[in-house]
Amino acid sequence: MPSLNIRVERWSELSEQKRTERLMRPEQSRSLSLREAVTDILSQVREQGDAAVIKLTQKFDNPSATQLVMSAEQKAETLKDLTATVKAAIDKAYSTITEFHRQQQPRDIRVETAPGVVCEQRYTPLQSVGLYIPGGSATLPSTALMLGVPAQLAGCPRKVLATPPTASGGIPAAVVYVAELCGIDDIILCGGAQAIAALAYGTESVSAVDKIFGPGNAFVTEAKQQVSQDASGVAIDMPAGPSELLVIADETANPAFVASDLLSQAEHGADSQVILLTPSEQLATQVQRQLQQQCSELSRQETAAEALANSRLIVTDSLNQAISLSEQYAPEHLSLQFNQARDYLPQLTRAGSIFVGHYTPESGGDYATGTNHVLPTYGYARNYSSLGLLDFYRRYTVQESTAQGLAGLADAITTLCDVEGLDAHKRAVTIRLEASS
Ligand code: NAD
Repeated sequence: MPSLNIRVERWSELSEQKRTERLMRPEQSRSLSLREAVTDILSQVREQGDAAVIKLTQKFDNPSATQLVMSAEQKAETLKDLTATVKAAIDKAYSTITEFHRQQQPRDIRVETAPGVVCEQRYTPLQSVGLYIPGGSATLPSTALMLGVPAQLAGCPRKVLATPPTASGGIPAAVVYVAELCGIDDIILCGGAQAIAALAYGTESVSAVDKIFGPGNAFVTEAKQQVSQDASGVAIDMPAGPSELLVIADETANPAFVASDLLSQAEHGADSQVILLTPSEQLATQVQRQLQQQCSELSRQETAAEALANSRLIVTDSLNQAISLSEQYAPEHLSLQFNQARDYLPQLTRAGSIFVGHYTPESGGDYATGTNHVLPTYGYARNYSSLGLLDFYRRYTVQESTAQGLAGLADAITTLCDVEGLDAHKRAVTIRLEASS
C-alpha cells in the first residue's frame, strides 16, 4: 500500500493557527443539499407512509423490497445462519453489558421539604423506543446490544429495531439473535432518513415511538436532528457522529498496541479521527512506523488510510500538556497508555469513555467490557453523557401539601406572586387558606 499521510509534529513548534487546526474535527457534512434531501425524504414518508419507505428502500438498499416489518418466519429462517461461536460471543457480551447497566437502575426519592410538604422524584420507562442499527457499510450487532440491553432493563414496553436490509433483502442473523435476547419483537427492514421518519411519525405498519436512539451516517444523523426539532417529532438520544479516539501515551507504552488502537477507530469510516499525544518523540516515530505496517494488513485498509489523513501524531512538552489538550478536544474515546494512568482520572473530565492502562484496548469497550459504546462525538463530551440506562427513562416529580403545609409556605409563594404580578397564582393559595381557617 502507498505510504500513509500522517506525520509526527511537535506541539511547541506549531503556530496558534496550526494548533487550532490540529484539534479540529474533519468537516461534518451538513450541507444544504444533505438537509434538503433529508427534509424531502421525511415529507415523503409523512405523506405516503409505507409506500414511500418501501420505494426508498428499493432505491438505496434492496431493489426487490416489498414489505417493511420482518415476519416471524423470516426471523426463524435468518436465525438458522447463526453459528454457535457467534452465539456464544453475543451471550458473553450480553452478560457483561447487562451486568454493568443493571447497576445503573435509578431510585425514586421522597423528601419532606417543609413540615406538611412532600416532594418526590420518580422514574418511569419510556413507553416506546426506536433503536437504529447502522447497516450500510458494516453489520453492527454490537450496537443492537448497546441499545437493546438498557431498553430491556428499563422495561420499555415497546421496542422497535430498524436496520437497512442487504441487497438481497435480509439482515444478519446476529442482529436478529440480539433482538430476540433483548425482547425486541418489532424489526423493521429499512435504514437511513426513511427509517427515522417511520419511527418518528409512524406509517400504516409502524406506530411512532417516543424516542429514537442509535448512531448512523450523515443521512441518519441529519434526520434525527430534524425530527427532534419538529413540534410533532420525537426525542433523540444525542448527536453521535463519526468515531474518534485520542490516545495519551508515554515511553512506557507499546507502540504496536497504540497503533492497533488508532487503526481500530480509523477503520470505522473515512471521516473518523484518531490522535496520539505523547511527550516521547521516540514513541511517536515508532507508532508512525507501526501504523504503516499494520494498516497494510487490514481488510479495510483504504478506509483506515483515508481516516489517518485527518489524524495526528503530536509530541507534547509533558504528560500534563497532553492531558490539557485532551480536555480541550473532548474526545469520544480516550485511551491512557502510561503507568499509574488511574491517578490522572480526576483531571480528565471531558471524554465519552476512558480506557485505562496498557491492557484496555478501545475495542474492548466497543464490544464486551460492559460499558456502552454509543458516545458523544465532535466535542459534545463537554456537555453530553455517554448512553446509559437512565436515557431509557423519563424523570418526573410529584408534590403533596397538607393545609398546614400550604400555610407554612404561603408567605413565600404570595410574595413571589406579587413580585411577578401573577394574581391568579396568588389567589389559588389565598382561596385555600381562607377555606381552611
Ligand atoms: P447507516 O445504516 O447509517 O446508513 C445506511 C442508509 O443510508 C441506507 O439505508 C440509505 O437509506 C441511506 N443512504 C445512503 N446513501 C444515501 C443517499 N445518497 N441519499 C439518501 N439516503 C442514503 O450505515 P452506514 O452508512 O454504514 O453508516 C454508519 C455510521 O455510523 C458510520 O459513520 C459510523 O462511524 C457510525 N457509527 C457511530 C457510532 C457511535 O457510537 N458514534 C457507532 C457505530 C457506528
